[in-house]
Amino acid sequence: MPLPPDYHLHTALCRHAIGEPSDYARRAIELGLAEIGFAEHAPMPTDDFDDWHMRADQLDLYIEAVRKAQKDFPELTVRLGLEMDYIPGIEDWLRELVARARWDYLIGSVHYLDEHWAIDDPKQLALWEKHDVFEVWAEYFDRLTRAAGTGLFDIIGHADLPKKFGFRPDRDCSQLYRRFLEAARKHNCAIEINTAGLRKDCRELYPGEQFLRLACNAGVAIAFGSDAHKPEEVGLDFSMAVRAAKQAGYAHYSVFNLRNRQFQGL
Ligand SMILES: [Zn+2]
Ligand SMILES: [Zn+2]
Repeated sequence: MPLPPDYHLHTALCRHAIGEPSDYARRAIELGLAEIGFAEHAPMPTDDFDDWHMRADQLDLYIEAVRKAQKDFPELTVRLGLEMDYIPGIEDWLRELVARARWDYLIGSVHYLDEHWAIDDPKQLALWEKHDVFEVWAEYFDRLTRAAGTGLFDIIGHADLPKKFGFRPDRDCSQLYRRFLEAARKHNCAIEINTAGLRKDCRELYPGEQFLRLACNAGVAIAFGSDAHKPEEVGLDFSMAVRAAKQAGYAHYSVFNLRNRQFQGL
């Protein structure tokens, strides 16, 4: 079986990744992937919001670079996507971005718990020590549930991101997961099996085993992503991700073309 498409690739535009879309495409072909997609960190409502999203005036540049990779590598299917940060209140901005191009898919991610704290930012690690871990998880999943509920996204990114640095609540989180999964199913959002977690302190896929089983039981579809921030990370650990999906009960994954979803067998 060929590996599923890698739908979560970044580029140098976000200032914490390296490489052009064509460099990622070249790597994908080396690996024998048939399809990839870019999901660069979308511009925030103001460019000075932080320093790790592309700027608003770079959006066309991004689209051009992805189109160039499509032209340079006609043997590879290259999709155009975005990873959009969901923060309650910026829905109008997100809708504007959605209207800016013919996207193949949109990934909705929650990184920010409030305007100032991105829970996965290593520079802000100290903030974890100042908070109750369960409360952070609960607040995060509340936002993620709202993100799915906007109906703006085709895929929800790295759904159990708060585990990144290994801060895990000692209480059961399955109710938080279930509530989110119900919203995802209702709004036709797939979740992403993201292999970047394997490269972080938590040392496991996003999402973990229990979450993935609940997702499968809830009838929520999946897509795959490496969250590559350099070309060498394309398709990283995808065999393991496919195995985890099958073990959770999945037999199909989603592919996207101009925001239409189809299923392919795992
Ligand atoms: Zn990033
Ligand atoms: Zn992300």
